[in-house]
Amino acid sequence: MVHQTVRHKSSDLVGLAPTHLQNLRRRDFVAGAALVDGRWIVGEQRDIVVDPATGEEIAEIARCSAADMDRAIAAAERSFAAWRALLPARRGAILRSWASLMLDHSEELAILVTSEQGKPLAEARHEIAYGAGFLEWFAAEGERAYGETIPSHKPETLLQVRMQPIGVAAAITPWNFPVAMITRKAGAALAAGCPIIVKPAPETPLSALAVARLAEEAGVPRGVFQILVGNPIELSAPLLRDTRVRALSFTGSTQVGRLLLEGAAQTVKKVSLELGGHAPFLIFDDVDVDRAVKGAIAAKFSTSGQDCLAANRFYVQRGIYGAFVDAFAAAVAQLKVGHGLDPTTDIGPMTKLPVANKCRAQIDDAVKKGARLFSTNQGVSLGPNFVPPALLSDVTEGMLIAHEETFGPVAAVLPFDSEEEVTARANANEMGLAGYIYTDSLRRALRLSEQIECGMLGINTASFTGPSIPFGGWKQSGLGREGSRHGLAEYMELKYVCFGDLAG
Ligand code: NAD
Repeated sequence: MVHQTVRHKSSDLVGLAPTHLQNLRRRDFVAGAALVDGRWIVGEQRDIVVDPATGEEIAEIARCSAADMDRAIAAAERSFAAWRALLPARRGAILRSWASLMLDHSEELAILVTSEQGKPLAEARHEIAYGAGFLEWFAAEGERAYGETIPSHKPETLLQVRMQPIGVAAAITPWNFPVAMITRKAGAALAAGCPIIVKPAPETPLSALAVARLAEEAGVPRGVFQILVGNPIELSAPLLRDTRVRALSFTGSTQVGRLLLEGAAQTVKKVSLELGGHAPFLIFDDVDVDRAVKGAIAAKFSTSGQDCLAANRFYVQRGIYGAFVDAFAAAVAQLKVGHGLDPTTDIGPMTKLPVANKCRAQIDDAVKKGARLFSTNQGVSLGPNFVPPALLSDVTEGMLIAHEETFGPVAAVLPFDSEEEVTARANANEMGLAGYIYTDSLRRALRLSEQIECGMLGINTASFTGPSIPFGGWKQSGLGREGSRHGLAEYMELKYVCFGDLAG
């Protein structure tokens, strides 16, 4: 099975990723074997990984079967008792050593990420540090899984609430942050005392498998961290139906999230979901236009727009609308499109062709309905996965891009008049992951921070993620939280214990 449907050759880009992969110090990082029950398996069948910039084949990987998944679940269950019995500090030491190995191999991991995912190398390096940060955070947080004592409502009793590991956990992870979405889930599960089985996205298995090698080297015991690659439906079915899998964490599309939630209902698992976004970015006319543009570029074009936090709707107050559009268009025109391994690249290819096609369809729809398109068309000749960074102004609510997530480097700008009006428009969507507000009015910032319906809000900043924050969304953007102290709770059960007859 080949995961990228279109092969294309763009002469100046071909060979970049294979050359970098051949030069890796760690050849085992591209062996393409999966980790099941402490053994690296190559699989009876193999899948091909391609460089999304060129369509070139860059590696072969194992295609695990449902039977492999059954073995993994059994191995995880066997490993649970010993792992939960380790002192949290000991589990933390293993997580810290895993983080430190990731940082030692940062460059090689970043090259793998860029080669299979497409993002610029500088962003890939940042992802490795971000990903290692979750392991470090949860290494410490595991020691703080405090319970409670409750002032008793009955005489001669002691009421206690304990936090206990839930059992075997499973993670299904996306291709846009192929390393950090694994460590964000695995760090929390392992710190809580749970074994975890990871199924990464078929497009980006190499960096995931490399991170698994480092987990083994860090001393994560057999069966406690396993990783299986292959067909998503075939591999998720055993996870969903098996009663031994107690928790499921997923990051990806809302559509697949709904399917998994439904599937997990069979065995009533604890489910956490990080799904799509459609973040509003509100710019009031009391702010400095250049500052707002800087924030807008960061919020829209990081990860080439393939980020669930990406701003999708820029609502700009009428007083600065023209000035903002001109300055934003000029800044967008500066972004350089190319292969992620070229150090001058700002915008790489879309990892998947359907994502690029969706961007093009949204642009066509908006232009047909009267939007103005600003784009240099730079990069179109590089291949079908490339989408030149674009700005659409005068977007109206009837256009697809105004109510559908883009997940690519296309910015939609809409004018607004009043705070009340823009608040209602920002909230009139079923997604509620992130939001952004630029204003110099403290009163307005306080009012809006209460009223905007989303899980994460940046006021006068486009950069707010990190291991210590509760990452997650409202409405159809998800369930539960990752990172922060709340992230640990997704892998733990509360147990209330009442000790009676204390006087006797
Ligand atoms: P997706 O939801 O199809 O893929 C995410 C993960 O789910 C991958 O591991 C994939 O193999 C797995 N998967 C897919 N179908 C499955 C199924 N039926 N059963 C079990 N697992 C399944 O995402 P996509 O289609 O590759 O991307 C499309 C859209 O998803 C994007 O445009 C974006 O809106 C959203 N997305 C969001 C995030 C995020 O960070 N929240 C990440 C990636 C994609």
